[in-house]
Amino acid sequence: MPTNLPDRDLGFETRSIHAGQLPDPTTGAVIPPVYLTSTYAQEQVGLTKGFEYSRTGNPTRTMLEENIASLEGGTHGLAFASGMAAITTLLLTLKPGDHVVLGDDVYGGTYRLLDRTLRGYGITFTLADMTQPDAVEAAITQATKMLWAETPTNPLMKVLDIRALADIAEAHGTRLVVDNTFASPYLQRPLEHGAHIVVHSATKYLGGHSDVVLGLLVTSDDDVHQQVAFNQNSVGAVPGPLDCFLVQRGIKTLAVRMREHSANAQKIAEYLEAHPAVARVYFPGLASDPGYPLAQRQMRLPGGMLSFTIRGGEEAARAFVSCTRLFTLAESLGGVESLIEHPGAMTHASLAGSPIEIGPDLIRLSVGIESADDLLQDLEDAFNAI
Ligand SMILES: *Cc1c(COP(=O)(O)O)cnc(C)c1O
Repeated sequence: MPTNLPDRDLGFETRSIHAGQLPDPTTGAVIPPVYLTSTYAQEQVGLTKGFEYSRTGNPTRTMLEENIASLEGGTHGLAFASGMAAITTLLLTLKPGDHVVLGDDVYGGTYRLLDRTLRGYGITFTLADMTQPDAVEAAITQATKMLWAETPTNPLMKVLDIRALADIAEAHGTRLVVDNTFASPYLQRPLEHGAHIVVHSATKYLGGHSDVVLGLLVTSDDDVHQQVAFNQNSVGAVPGPLDCFLVQRGIKTLAVRMREHSANAQKIAEYLEAHPAVARVYFPGLASDPGYPLAQRQMRLPGGMLSFTIRGGEEAARAFVSCTRLFTLAESLGGVESLIEHPGAMTHASLAGSPIEIGPDLIRLSVGIESADDLLQDLEDAFNAI
């Protein structure tokens, strides 16, 4: 029975299945058991096998944390009850007066957290177009502690240059955080491009089956890890062992899923680009997309997310999203099943009145791994129905 992995560099697919996932030494179970326990027996006061209480640490969670650290190429992984719990726990390492520079089409929940919740604790932020290094430089102040980037961005699929942002962060003595939810570590590993911290909503591609909510964070910076691990226990927004198990199971097929998501999205993007009812497609796998050259360098594949604007404005957009039958009208993304949504009225409604401009004619697709022909026909039927 293997008790450790071969001592050489292992491929991504191998690590996604085996990192942190050795057979159980006591029974030989190939899949390690799920540790449904809140507390751990001690031999004597303080003499433990490394675990005391499951908010502080749980073996199922530890295995997932080791796995994601390996996939992102970092030294430390931490798991949380949701993506927002990971983001909140990280941002709670900031102090009153600290400042964050945030991408101007950042995930709505991250914007809301800073705008509505953390503002009351004295943490300030500035939005910047992160595709423009000058705009990022201009937004940085003496108090800036973090640059916060997502790439590709949501829902406009802008591709940001992680290396360029990391260089700006270094020059100003701040840290670059990348929310890698949209790409997943199979497509892009921000730490390899100089980012200091990676966060994930594992609810999306890592879990991959739309059946669990969980968040992850990876860093190779010991200080950051220590502070966030302290907060993980102190704040207590940790995931349960069953949720960790579900995400771990999802991760084992991440590579094959991402290849299928990307291939299907590419076909759909090309179909939409040629469609007379479509004004514009936002997808970094199209040669016509402004993010294409950078995506070629920074990402293994363009991913499964795309947006497009439909001719006929808000009315046409709202009609279209209720007409598809394989694409389910729902928030969220990254599952094996295809989803469609109207960002202006759904995922990005909390941005109404903010400087982040999401047009009412915009439609976002999370392209699943169903048969591509069925997905294309579903879209064609919807165009014909509206
Ligand atoms: C969904 C999402 C989050 C929040 O994650 P939850 O698991 O829903 O809390 C953060 N960032 C991005 C880019 C997301 O898509």
